[in-house]
Amino acid sequence: MTSVLDLLRPELADAKAYLPTQGDYRIRLDANEAPPLLPAHVQARLVEETARIAFERYPDATTSALRAAIAERIGVAPEEVLVGVGSDELIALLLTAVTRPRRGNEPPALLTTTPTFVMFRMSARLRGQRVVEVPLDADWDLAEASMLRGIEMSEPHVIFIASPNNPTSTVASPERLERVIEAAKSSLVVVDEAYVDYADRHRLELFRRYENVVVMRTLSKIGFAALRVGYLVGRRELVTELDKLRLPYNSNSVSQALATVVFRELWDEVLTMTATVKAERSRVASALAALPGVSVAPSQANFLWVKTGRPSEQLFRELGERGILVRSFHASTGRLAQQLRITIGTQAENDELVACLRELA
Ligand SMILES: *Cc1c(COP(=O)(O)O)cnc(C)c1O
Repeated sequence: MTSVLDLLRPELADAKAYLPTQGDYRIRLDANEAPPLLPAHVQARLVEETARIAFERYPDATTSALRAAIAERIGVAPEEVLVGVGSDELIALLLTAVTRPRRGNEPPALLTTTPTFVMFRMSARLRGQRVVEVPLDADWDLAEASMLRGIEMSEPHVIFIASPNNPTSTVASPERLERVIEAAKSSLVVVDEAYVDYADRHRLELFRRYENVVVMRTLSKIGFAALRVGYLVGRRELVTELDKLRLPYNSNSVSQALATVVFRELWDEVLTMTATVKAERSRVASALAALPGVSVAPSQANFLWVKTGRPSEQLFRELGERGILVRSFHASTGRLAQQLRITIGTQAENDELVACLRELA
């Protein structure tokens, strides 16, 4: 052996550490965080709760209070809930657990859509898994026939479908989603509902109707990204097995305590905030759609997926020069080169964004 680096799995050489865009921007509309619109008493209540934490003790290894609070809020049993350090940890956990070897030595495959949340494929690649990406259709909906073909050909262990999807803001049409689930009897289908609080409907019931479905959600997009709390809902037999792989103290005491308060006491405030964001979303979408060459996908999330007249790379740079950070996919080619993903911010931030794009677009 020449170097300890030679011991590392080869996929690392091709990977980059996940790093959000750094730098000083007045207005950050790049990460789909919620704008700071929760009333001051929310912060005060969380601070008060923090003061009660026994810092010398390990966290509750079973996350029982938090799971009970989540379960009650969404109408499932606590045994059907698994808490992760964000959905990111749950993605990694699923990709580690659902890997029983099938014939030959072929590594397990992950099937997902493109474009979608990058963490699905990053997490799979870093585990040496095959990644099969099926392009969404022209309306950014599931391309059913291609999905079915992809399932048949790659026999994936896991299928990730984000709905509402990031970066496209659109939901999978219900019939297509169900036909994909039905065609994927030998796969675990993960329906990622990270943005469900901004959508007209949820699909939580799918985990009861289909034995091979789990649903994932998170606090990250509704005002509590700092806590790193995500959760998965699935059949209790499956949750019991997945729980064996979870690190015993994955969720720290602060996150567990504060998230419990959010689900138990502060949900009305969350709903008020998401309603405000949804109202801003329609306002900004109409303003942008009125610009020449611009169109906006029907958003069911807290961001807009904007088709730009000019190459999005230029607009991204020019917005940046004005202190506004959005997400562009200019490293990608094809239809993504004319798309920007823009998070809904405060009213003042949105106004400024619209004014800038009026000049630039
Ligand atoms: C932001 C996002 C998540 C959230 O991940 P966390 O680790 O919970 O912050 C999950 N899925 C999708 C599709 C997302 O866009």
